[in-house]
Amino acid sequence: MPTLQSVISCLSDYDPAALPVDQANRIIGEVVEPVRGVEQLPIRSALDRVLAEDIVSPIDVPAHDNSAMDGYAFQGAALAAAQTATVELEVIGSAFAGGAGALAPTAAQAVRIMTGAVMPAGCDTVVPQEFVEGVDDGARIRFAADCVRTGDNRRLRGEDLARGQAALQAGRILQPADLGLLASLGVAEVRVRRRLRVAFFSTGDELRSIGEPLDPGCVYDSNRYTLHGMLRRMNVDLLDMGVVRDDPDALEAAFRTACETADAVITSGGVSVGEADYTKQIMARLGDVTFWKIAMRPGRPMAFGRINSNGRDALLFGLPGNPVAVMVTFYHFVRAALQRLMGASVPPLPLLRVRSAQAIRKKPGRTEYQRGILARAGDGQWEVRITGQQGSGVLRSMSEANCFIVLGHEQDSVKAGDAVEVMLFDGLV
Ligand code: AMP
Ligand code: MG
Repeated sequence: MPTLQSVISCLSDYDPAALPVDQANRIIGEVVEPVRGVEQLPIRSALDRVLAEDIVSPIDVPAHDNSAMDGYAFQGAALAAAQTATVELEVIGSAFAGGAGALAPTAAQAVRIMTGAVMPAGCDTVVPQEFVEGVDDGARIRFAADCVRTGDNRRLRGEDLARGQAALQAGRILQPADLGLLASLGVAEVRVRRRLRVAFFSTGDELRSIGEPLDPGCVYDSNRYTLHGMLRRMNVDLLDMGVVRDDPDALEAAFRTACETADAVITSGGVSVGEADYTKQIMARLGDVTFWKIAMRPGRPMAFGRINSNGRDALLFGLPGNPVAVMVTFYHFVRAALQRLMGASVPPLPLLRVRSAQAIRKKPGRTEYQRGILARAGDGQWEVRITGQQGSGVLRSMSEANCFIVLGHEQDSVKAGDAVEVMLFDGLV
């Protein structure tokens, strides 16, 4: 894996004290490389896992031309040949789904057919049941020549997937539709990347765990719970190491255990500039770690790198302590880094442009992630407003919001009614 130093030395305008979000993500992307381990799983167990191989369709799906409707199959040429506005055909039998389709009607004949049944030889068109009038006790049918065109209501062999066509690509995180697609190809098992193991802990002497008395000046540790939630959604194995107090031996032991058992280590707190505790010293001593002030709000301080202990190494993300900053930095840096580490190739989340219901103050030169509520306004248009308090300690703002309002690096203040970009929480983990 490339070292941080080698990646950073290639950048002409690198300023760790005011690092733009995009540059931080580019550096992280170059340092992180996918884990190698692969396992083979039955497709149901592969949900949310990262596909480790390309899946090429071994068959045509569907395997035969078949009917999309309940109705009557016939040769479309009969429509053009009809002298009158009405077509009349002799019914010679029925075709059911699952049957092999042995009937071969002439141009003057039709076959009663069910949805999914194989098209009889020579037939290319299905007239739906509801357009048809039976005559002679169903021995013949009659329908208007203009109620259907040649080729209607027929599904073509291979139209879903042709044999030899790429069905799914390596790097895909398997979705419910993909399990169905694999099943439709008759694929029982797939090779997926091994699961990541992520260790995390909170640092700070003011932190108390749930169940402990809240002494004066103390707060309950909430970051481990938001991290638990976000990591669970990423389908990784978790190692929750609790709160580690600000003591050099305790911190070093925690970092070493985390590093030796996990692929990535996430901590919160203790990375601010001027922070008196030992977290940063120990991170720096255990590996190739850099301390950034990112040009963003919230979430300015962040440590990133790789630590090593007894020959094992792990990626390190030292997130800020503020509860909102933890979530923002997780979503905008850690999420993509873990996806890369697990071998996934995931397109960036969409940013939607919507109207801002209010003016928002903003200075160019940093990216802001305001917490927003996107809703339909009285005039039917989608409109976003910020949740009340935007302080980086106000976790309620994340809980109430349904999107980030992303104000880009160069963006200036926004006037009420201007378009702004939002990133929906749905789709985030
Ligand atoms: P720090 O980055 O350590 O300076 O922490 C910034 C702020 O976040 C302080 O007010 C801390 O009390 C708070 N904080 C740090 N860690 C946590 C945590 N695990 N849960 C809740 N608040 C925290
Ligand atoms: Mg602290």
